[in-house]
Amino acid sequence: MFYSIICSPPENLNTATKIPMEEITDIIGPLNEAQRQAVTTESRNTLVLAGAGSGKTRVLVHRIAWLIRAEKISPWSILAVTFTNKAAREMKGRVEQLLDMPSGTLWIGTFHGLAHRLLRNHWQEANLPQNFQILDSEDQLRLVRRLLKEMNLDEERWPPRQATWFINEQKDKGFRPQQIDTAGDFWLSQMVQLYTAYEAACQRGGMVDFAELLLRAHEMWLNNPELLNHYRNRFSHLLVDEFQDTNTIQYAWLRLLTGDNGSIFVVGDDDQSVYGWRGAQVENIRSFTREFPLVETLRLEQNYRSSGNILNAANALIDNNPGRLGKELWTEDNDGVPIQLYSAYNDLDEARFIAEQIQFWVDKGGRRDESAILYRSNAQSRVLEEALLSASIPYRIYGGLRFFERAEIKDALSYLRLMAHRHDDAAFERVVNTPTRGIGERTVMLVREYAQGAGISLWRAALAQTEGDQLAARARNALRNFLQLIEQMSHDGKDKALNEQVEIVLKNSSLIDHHKKNRSEKGLTRIENLEELVTAAGQFSPEDESLNLLDEFLAQAALESGDTQGDEWEDCVQLMTLHSAKGLEFHQVFLSGLEEGLFPHSRSSEDSEQLEEERRLCYVGITRARQKLTLSHAESRRLYGKESYPRVSRFIKEIPVELLQEVRIRSTISRPVNQRSSSYTQNHRSSILEDSGTGLQPGQQVRHAKFGEGTVLMLEGSGPQARIQIHFPEAGTKWLVAGYAKLEPT
Ligand code: ATP
Ligand code: MG
Repeated sequence: MFYSIICSPPENLNTATKIPMEEITDIIGPLNEAQRQAVTTESRNTLVLAGAGSGKTRVLVHRIAWLIRAEKISPWSILAVTFTNKAAREMKGRVEQLLDMPSGTLWIGTFHGLAHRLLRNHWQEANLPQNFQILDSEDQLRLVRRLLKEMNLDEERWPPRQATWFINEQKDKGFRPQQIDTAGDFWLSQMVQLYTAYEAACQRGGMVDFAELLLRAHEMWLNNPELLNHYRNRFSHLLVDEFQDTNTIQYAWLRLLTGDNGSIFVVGDDDQSVYGWRGAQVENIRSFTREFPLVETLRLEQNYRSSGNILNAANALIDNNPGRLGKELWTEDNDGVPIQLYSAYNDLDEARFIAEQIQFWVDKGGRRDESAILYRSNAQSRVLEEALLSASIPYRIYGGLRFFERAEIKDALSYLRLMAHRHDDAAFERVVNTPTRGIGERTVMLVREYAQGAGISLWRAALAQTEGDQLAARARNALRNFLQLIEQMSHDGKDKALNEQVEIVLKNSSLIDHHKKNRSEKGLTRIENLEELVTAAGQFSPEDESLNLLDEFLAQAALESGDTQGDEWEDCVQLMTLHSAKGLEFHQVFLSGLEEGLFPHSRSSEDSEQLEEERRLCYVGITRARQKLTLSHAESRRLYGKESYPRVSRFIKEIPVELLQEVRIRSTISRPVNQRSSSYTQNHRSSILEDSGTGLQPGQQVRHAKFGEGTVLMLEGSGPQARIQIHFPEAGTKWLVAGYAKLEPT
């Protein structure tokens, strides 16, 4: 007997006779022959292997409706797995629409969501307290850090993030500590010891991390055959979307639940496997046909999403990957408009071009949310966001935080805020012990209480505490060091350019070093974002030059992270990384930053498998577009705080040239002096020099009241609003607005 309540299926649904064909025409009517075959298949286990936009997700949704309406399967017996919560909501909506009934009893969700639901229902069988808590990644890191300390392993040699990564990876592979063979390896045996201590601490505290959800649910079934049988009988029909991105434990989970009698229907595309770096096993597609009984493999070859040109580009690109399972995709659609290729002078030009194109589209009556801007790296979003903001185009970042909302950026900004205003309590709270510097919660509590009692700022209270005797000597010292650190930064940053002030913060606060200790993808991303903040500060030009530059910059950052972001229901341009774009589609897609080192990412240049994954990611990006695709790259880019002159991405060269049309706008941007252009663009376009109406030319010498003499590098826009990039030997390179800068030719 189970401790938990297991509800019974509604009666009679399984016994009704089949209904006539005409009543199911709405389910199979809007399908082609191959899709219809997949939806109505009588085989027990099915793999639908098909390229992008061929209707896999549509087939999955219609299959659910078919099972319920035609096969008389109870909705209670169906379990469907999708990749994101958004996709799950959409799937439910579609099923309800097709069946014209609520889908309440259907289990549709992500692997994590479904596993969580199981554990909540069966906490006793899973050996968990009823009110078990989910540990998010930050909590997990904090716990690992504490355990490393208890084991006397110092953070330098044993970076906590790396240790966390290790634990998650083992769980994703289905390994508990005792199953890991350390083979006498010292590093591994320490990690396994940590994993053991981590497990014990989680168990004591009733905490479950993300990876644990799946592993725990899997083990719960293994240890409770009766419960497993119950769910095997219940979920007689499993359906899985994006199957190519399942990892080991997810696959094992599906295998166990299907058992010998269940029926599983999976759809996927080996060419869209993009989560290898997170443990996804594209081999699961091959294993599926071997390890599940009586699998029928079906293929869909007609693409309904994209125009001919877009599809041909995608096919040609992915053809460069060896060892594919091989699929043909064709469309009845006509060729459509050519794919546009824009070679920008720099990243700002690229962003502005994209914003302009979207504005054209909107002016012609198009909706903003029909456009998506895709990029490889999160840090690219900042320049794009700024271009959209200055064009007053609402946008939404999908599946990620906006640049100024990211934790690491907020940390760095809080230091800047304290440098500007010591009494900014929120900033004080945020960074007083970030990165950790031995100022514990108790100390902060005392400071808070003192401040409250005396009605003063935390800064003042902290200052008083360093002189009083309420705190232990160690805490007092730690606090004093923090106050001195801010004073020192403030002193060092005095009269320095804004980007230099940011650099001082990053260095002196040890924020970069702090994230360096985490060698995972996430840590690297944080460092990239912080370096990007240096670029942002360097490019910043205030509306009003008479105001304090730092104050203006902080205000802009606050405003940008505030309410200018459109909400989910507003008509906004969609910004997202290529990874987040999987499964979605848009009328027009801008694929930006197609440069060697950025996309494909520099980390993949040495490794052919990683390069193939990058190419699949590009395939995903191209195939998101229905009618219009615009590719862009910049001849020079400031990213991660560095200027580079990247080569054009090989992915552009892998697209047949007859499908591409280079865009030559009547630009008001002049080519920067001394800037070499990539050989590709030199061959393919001529530079366009035009008068910006400012009376200035690149290369010209000018004088600025504050920054002294400098050389004009670049001009953007025209008239008093024109932006001018000038290199000042004394003050560095600045962007200034023509109308405000009061430049004198020399
Ligand atoms: P991806 O690989 O990107 O996840 P997919 O194979 O899941 O793509 P869907 O998203 O299901 O493809 O379908 C792509 C588009 O084609 C959708 O807009 C869908 O409504 C449309 N579509 C699919 N099949 C048909 C059809 N038979 N008739 C008309 N439209 C169709
Ligand atoms: Mg899909």
